[in-house]
Amino acid sequence: DLRQALARGEFALHYQPLLDLASGTISGCEALVRWHHRTRGMIPPGAFIPLAEETKLIVPLGEWVLREACREAATWERPMRISVNVSAVQFRQPGLVQSVMGALAASGLPPERLELEITETVLIHEGEALKTLHQLRALGVRIALDDFGTGYSSLSYLRRFPFDKIKIDQSFVREMTTRANCVAIVSAVVGLADELGMTATAEGVETADQLDLVRQVGCLEAQGYLLGRPKPI
Ligand code: C2E
Ligand code: MG
Ligand code: MG
Repeated sequence: DLRQALARGEFALHYQPLLDLASGTISGCEALVRWHHRTRGMIPPGAFIPLAEETKLIVPLGEWVLREACREAATWERPMRISVNVSAVQFRQPGLVQSVMGALAASGLPPERLELEITETVLIHEGEALKTLHQLRALGVRIALDDFGTGYSSLSYLRRFPFDKIKIDQSFVREMTTRANCVAIVSAVVGLADELGMTATAEGVETADQLDLVRQVGCLEAQGYLLGRPKPI
């Protein structure tokens, strides 16, 4: 079914806003893929991205997401950013930089409005990945480190590449109101991001208390159900 889904046009993008906490305005949206299966209904990405990666179908799917997200963002009246998730498998394909260039050229979207979200697994295969990151940066595209705090969260990744943004994983944000050590961790990551010239974004903000806390520790940006759920455009 996954093999045929692209040709059948069964994928769609939902968009979730990111809030700039200083100005209170929306700084951009993250594109999140959905699969409208003919009989099973809406399938969330967690249920099919791993299979798409295993079968390498993530390459054409990721290319579609990139083109569709850039095409959509180019029509917006306000020049907000568009964030697109890029899988580690996609990242290892030689054509990624060309793909990004193609999506920008076809849509006319200025490169600085495109932000690619990668996870640290991309950096495990270091040499080539770093080269690709620098090539993407040279295009003017922004790079965010997604889900920070899960996995190894090696600080050496932060030393090796100057990310534009660190997205603090929702598991930390969720526990901030109940566990003081989570506040300390988020606060330290925010301080680190700040010193390194990176934006710290809190993921998964669901309650007003959580929003207060992420503000207090100095997060510059927040995303979560409280601020807006992912929705069709
Ligand atoms: P992610 O990039 O970390 O995206 C954030 C996920 O958290 C989204 O789940 C979003 O709906 C969810 N979320 C946002 N705010 C809240 C909140 O306040 N509470 C809770 N509980 N959840 C919140 P979603 O859309 O199911 O996507 C899951 C993951 O699938 C994404 O995590 C991303 O890693 C992957 N993914 C989604 N779209 C794509 C895509 O186009 N390409 C690739 N390679 N991966 C994608
Ligand atoms: Mg993401
Ligand atoms: Mg995330």
